Amino acid sequence: MSSDSRLMDAGADNEERAAEAALRPKSLQDFVGQHKVCEQLELVLHAARKRGGAPDHILLAGPPGLGKTTLSMIIAAEMGVPIRITSGPAIQHAGDLAAILSSLTENEVLFLDEIHRMSRPAEEMLYMAMEDYRVDVIVGKGPGATAIPLELPPFTLVGATTRSGLLSAPLRDRFGFTGHMEFYEPDDLVRIVRRSARLLDVGIADEGAAEIASRSRGTPRIVNRLLRRVRDYAEVRSDGRISLDVARAALEVYEVDERGLDRLDRAVLGALLRLFNGGPVGLSTLAVAIGEETDTVEEVAEPFLVRQGLLARTPRGRIATAAAWAHLGMQVPAHIQPGGIPNQPGLFGDAP
Ligand code: ADP
Repeated sequence: MSSDSRLMDAGADNEERAAEAALRPKSLQDFVGQHKVCEQLELVLHAARKRGGAPDHILLAGPPGLGKTTLSMIIAAEMGVPIRITSGPAIQHAGDLAAILSSLTENEVLFLDEIHRMSRPAEEMLYMAMEDYRVDVIVGKGPGATAIPLELPPFTLVGATTRSGLLSAPLRDRFGFTGHMEFYEPDDLVRIVRRSARLLDVGIADEGAAEIASRSRGTPRIVNRLLRRVRDYAEVRSDGRISLDVARAALEVYEVDERGLDRLDRAVLGALLRLFNGGPVGLSTLAVAIGEETDTVEEVAEPFLVRQGLLARTPRGRIATAAAWAHLGMQVPAHIQPGGIPNQPGLFGDAP
């Protein structure tokens, strides 16, 4: 993926996670927004503290970059217990999971990111561990294999998933509480930018903070990343302070527009409008037209374009909405209903 499209990708690599560590809120009080989830969590944790035990297992569901890892660390901190961090793809064999589970200390938090990507045998082992604090370790192979039961200390599993629909019902049922994380409101993003600027010791005007927040796709990870890039610009081309003009000029350099679309998003929309007259066009044709991988278009660009109401996925292919034409400054063609999508019978698979 090109580096400028990475700027608006809500995922993070290890290097980014290191830069993020300094900006993570450490308590529920410090955690901005997500009031519903925070209130619910507060109750779950408070009740567990009163009972003197580990809280129920917790599932955090929502798109990347919204604070699931941060919340899991806060859960451990609020309970005053250590946290172990791993992820579904890192657990390929049930034995990997058994090793982690058997080394947990009493009431420890086990954070399992991307829990929907765990292997099936590991997932089955997790059922018993969550319910009975016990696992059966299989020793040997074939007819001579024996199951040795292993007692575990009580622990709290905090699972995170970007795809809760992919979770099997038995796994989902074993969580006592599910927090659904939503994209952040503009006001919350402004608070996050200002808080991060304070921690990074960067001066920022209110209008500069609002400008960065409004282009960050409702996502704290992106807001923090844009802040770091705008800070670079401010230090090199200005006096280090982030004013509205500095924020605008910097974001123009990085090709992030007022709506938070980056070069890749605009390439997708541009091809859809200019080459295919707004669609419908198949995903792979669209990807080839802009020289990108199908996965990149589908997983990086499209979710945001769909959420913004600029693109629709239909059984006959991708289509641009009227808003897409307007956003790229092009005349909305007559076959598109005002404010809507092409007026063509059968487009959504309904009867023509
Ligand atoms: P996820 O695990 O959902 O991908 P993270 O917990 O890693 O997201 O959060 C990404 C970044 O955004 C972190 O640097 C974190 O500090 C910041 N962040 C997330 N949520 C908040 C919040 N509510 N308030 C302040 N910063 C946040």
